[in-house]
Amino acid sequence: MFIESIEIDNFKSYGKKTKIYFKPGFTVIIGPNGSGKSNIGDAILFVLGIRSNKTVRIERLSDLIHKSEKSSRNYCYVELNINDNGNLYSIKREIKKENGEYKSNYYINNNKSKYNDVSNLIDSFHIYLDSYSFVLQGDINNIITMSGSEKRKLFEALAGIESFKEKIENARSD
Ligand code: ATP
Ligand code: MG
Repeated sequence: MFIESIEIDNFKSYGKKTKIYFKPGFTVIIGPNGSGKSNIGDAILFVLGIRSNKTVRIERLSDLIHKSEKSSRNYCYVELNINDNGNLYSIKREIKKENGEYKSNYYINNNKSKYNDVSNLIDSFHIYLDSYSFVLQGDINNIITMSGSEKRKLFEALAGIESFKEKIENARSD
């Protein structure tokens, strides 16, 4: 599986609609400081689902919407176009202000969907948000200083047990 392209509109530093294409394999993004490299990673995480705002370096969801003197749109979206063995999927997340509150909507192949459906789809791609599909800045230092039980948790996550644990918890609370 690989991300073929990502479309970003009004997200963080990307005020204009921007489409970025990727190829299978290893990709390096280069650019000057503050040019929006990490914001591309944040955009990918925003669609796949973030556990905490800290992951994408914000205080509140509305901080993801592009801010500038020119723009005051209360809206942003990111769409990931994923190629899984030749099968194409698009996953989109938008933020909209509705009745004074910021809300997220998800779409799979342009059909409005629940986050749970997105979560199941990304599970099927073997992307595990709680494991180390994503290594954020500072994570390596954390691993070095981890206690034994924390390391065990990490190995469980790497083995893919974590997502089953969550499903068991959800089934118990239903
Ligand atoms: P570095 O090389 O320093 O890691 P980078 O290329 O990774 O830089 P990013 O962190 O992606 O840079 O982008 C930072 C820029 O994004 C900052 O200039 C910041 O002001 C801008 N930015 C973040 N959120 C918003 C927003 N909501 N509206 C407008 N600009 C934003
Ligand atoms: Mg950066």
